[in-house]
Amino acid sequence: MKKQYSFFAEWREQDLKFLNSLGLNKEIEPGVDIFYVEESEIYDRVVEHYSRKGQLFKRIRPKGFDCELLGVIFSEKELDFAKGFSLSLGAGKLEDLWADHGTWKTELYDEVCPNCGRPIGEQKRPWVLKKDFKQLVKHPFVGFEGMGGFVFCDKTVADLIQKEFGIRQMEVLIGQNEKVSENLVQLTIPLSPYNLNVEGNDFGIPYEGNNEVLCAICNQRTFTNQILDFFPPFEKEFEYDIVLTREWFGWYRRFVLSKRFLDFCFENKLTKKRFGPGFVVPQSTVKQT
Ligand SMILES: [Zn+2]
Repeated sequence: MKKQYSFFAEWREQDLKFLNSLGLNKEIEPGVDIFYVEESEIYDRVVEHYSRKGQLFKRIRPKGFDCELLGVIFSEKELDFAKGFSLSLGAGKLEDLWADHGTWKTELYDEVCPNCGRPIGEQKRPWVLKKDFKQLVKHPFVGFEGMGGFVFCDKTVADLIQKEFGIRQMEVLIGQNEKVSENLVQLTIPLSPYNLNVEGNDFGIPYEGNNEVLCAICNQRTFTNQILDFFPPFEKEFEYDIVLTREWFGWYRRFVLSKRFLDFCFENKLTKKRFGPGFVVPQSTVKQT
């Protein structure tokens, strides 16, 4: 796992001499600029340089100096070694098909928390979309970018998954007449029986704008939606092929898949290449307590 950082500032002449001697992948110009580095010796040197104790009247850091952790990338070896994976659904094409952008929570769920706004419990009613989705050949699994934790797929794919893993399907309704779609279904993915153990894991920080992880009313936890670490393990080990986390990450629950499920997708050509870095986040193994 390598962490990736950005450095931003209004760079001065005195910064350029230092920065441009580091072998960054771009030449830094005077003025407002940003550069990206992986966790490395270069990163350490930049941090060290701008963390020195300054002399009086001499500013160590340029105006607007900001260093941010952008995310992490995992190696093929780390992906091979993991037993569980969190999947990102980036197809995102489904946004155009919503019948209504604002009311999904009350339409699908019986209860929504008045404090944190997250739905409580399981989805009770099917999605109503404006029209059927035609691009399923390209994207066997589709969802909403950054929202919900829903997986839709072609009925033939869903049948295959149901046969192999016992994952049931929920119908999808189309248009004002709420006609049942013939080729699009939603996978009914069970909630994990266990919480995640985020102790010592960078995923365990609050979602941007929230002060707390835990909602005082509904007791649900909401973490950052950034990828900052290995995906946290469940509190206990259990058998699964695909489950939804009990926790929220921003406005969605994440899916956790077994290696068997990933391999099945690859073998059945549900994905053209094996799930590569950037698409799946390997889960760290359960800590024995
Ligand atoms: Zn709540």
